[in-house]
Amino acid sequence: MSKPYEGPEWDIASEYSDFGDKSLVDDRQLLSNYFETIASLGEGLLEAGIPKEEKSHIADAQQILSVKNKALILVGNINTWANCIASVDAKNSQARALLAESQSFKARLGVALQDWQRWVQLVSSGVYQEFIEVREVAAEAYTLSRLRLLSSQILTLEEEKMLKTLELNGPTAWGNLYDIVSGGMNVAMPDGKSLGLAQAAAYMENSDVNVRRKAWLAQNSAWEEQEEAVAAGLNAIAGWRLDTYKMRSVSTELHFLDPPCHQGAISRLTLDTMMGTVSENNEVAREVLKAQAACLGIEQLGPWDLFAPPPGSKVDLWLFDDAIKLIRDAFAKVDPDMGSFVDIMVENRWIEGSDGKSKRPGAYCTRFPKSRTPRVYMTYAGGIKDVITLAHELGHAFHGWVMRDMPISQTWYPMTLAETASIFAQTVVLEELRNRGRSQSELLPILWSDAREAEAFLLNIPARYDFEKALYEKRAAGPLSIAELKLLMEKSWRDHYRDCLSEMNKMFWASKLHFHISGISFYNFPYTFGYLFSLGVFSRQKSLGSDFYQSYIGLLRNTGRMTAEDLAKKHMGVDLEDSQFWNESINIVRVKVNRFKDLVAEIRC
Ligand SMILES: [Zn+2]
Repeated sequence: MSKPYEGPEWDIASEYSDFGDKSLVDDRQLLSNYFETIASLGEGLLEAGIPKEEKSHIADAQQILSVKNKALILVGNINTWANCIASVDAKNSQARALLAESQSFKARLGVALQDWQRWVQLVSSGVYQEFIEVREVAAEAYTLSRLRLLSSQILTLEEEKMLKTLELNGPTAWGNLYDIVSGGMNVAMPDGKSLGLAQAAAYMENSDVNVRRKAWLAQNSAWEEQEEAVAAGLNAIAGWRLDTYKMRSVSTELHFLDPPCHQGAISRLTLDTMMGTVSENNEVAREVLKAQAACLGIEQLGPWDLFAPPPGSKVDLWLFDDAIKLIRDAFAKVDPDMGSFVDIMVENRWIEGSDGKSKRPGAYCTRFPKSRTPRVYMTYAGGIKDVITLAHELGHAFHGWVMRDMPISQTWYPMTLAETASIFAQTVVLEELRNRGRSQSELLPILWSDAREAEAFLLNIPARYDFEKALYEKRAAGPLSIAELKLLMEKSWRDHYRDCLSEMNKMFWASKLHFHISGISFYNFPYTFGYLFSLGVFSRQKSLGSDFYQSYIGLLRNTGRMTAEDLAKKHMGVDLEDSQFWNESINIVRVKVNRFKDLVAEIRC
């Protein structure tokens, strides 16, 4: 029997009806053929790692690009479909097997494309110009030019292949070890229960400060038991990266911030300007913590209070249909088309919001590359947090939707820009809620979660960023001891939180998964970027008036074919390398925080 507040189930059968679906079988067969074509054409592109430049090679490289795009669509489709099924039914063994198969497809495609990629990166500029003359290749000019920017870092073919092979038992293995350790950890809770990490984390949202504090201490002591293994992994991953950066610094020195900036399509100057401006203005986020402490009746928050709920907040539940109506109305105020998009999502059953027992936790938005249709996944239970999450994910879905007619290669955007549409959507819905002039007690949880974002993006993320930067700087001289890691984390937190917390989270280097992901470094600053960038976009709504919507769509459509700086210049007329833009976004945060502080003062909670 369905629960009154739960959301609907989605329809993904429109992609493949089941595991035996003929088109799923056909797609796998097609993929195998594509791999063979890519491998056989790619073989002839290089001679001892050097690109061959005759006309026939250019034609082969063009053909590979075309086949690659077809293969990417199929790999993506199968992967998305398997992941959707596994999300709803975490124990589905067929889905898990298909997921594993699609991951191996991805790996095979990566290997098959190695020679082609090298050819693109190293071929002379005259030949490269000829190569991109064909329409399908020209459509990918931006991505290809980004690839060529890395040409100075390329090693010999043998070295590249060796690194790729050794990576598996190097950083990848360390990252896997972290997952194994954290997945198997038991947190001995004060009430005698033994919980997994995810279950224990839920205690951080408990309304009783003693419960939160004890659970937090229990979690950190569980991490202390694993600190040797986790520190070894962190040192190894950072050390591996520094070693490879040194190897790649043949013609120009490669800094440890260069690769994450490249991945985020932002310049080092943009990153430094943003982080610097945030540091100078983070008092606004500390004000949130002070107001929250006052509201909770504590003199100073502890690190266990960062997820505390507001006191005595009324549990105000939203029926799924009411939440959809709210979001549709809010979106429609931006533009009627944006409002209609919500109806399209509902009518096509592209939202999974049911309260299934074997569903995976979390929320995400995904896209089927074949049909170019989005899906939103979450477990909707009616809380205001769920309403905001739904708005956030629908924002992501809208982003993909406005790109659905574009060449697939132009629709992949970096993490820095990925949050633009989602945080924009979330902000629009929060504004709508506020404008509806609900009662103070109903507004408190809304403004509370809104204000908390200031803490997350202007204090917590910058503290992570500073820690990671210092980690690389020190790691260059040798591995860091556990005591050093703790000290470093404590310092990073103190520099940002200052007197707003009674103690700092010195085990955060161990407990935060993001530091241990083997495939990507600095999995932090893109969040702050996304938050402030989308607030900047949001503020344009007022100044541009009726011209805003078209400008917004134009911006979203260009997120996969421009750097963030070019995008901001073209669509907003702003310079991301100048602190003015970031200051303006922080001013919007200030307005939000002031509203929160005013409410807290009015309620005298
Ligand atoms: Zn998101």
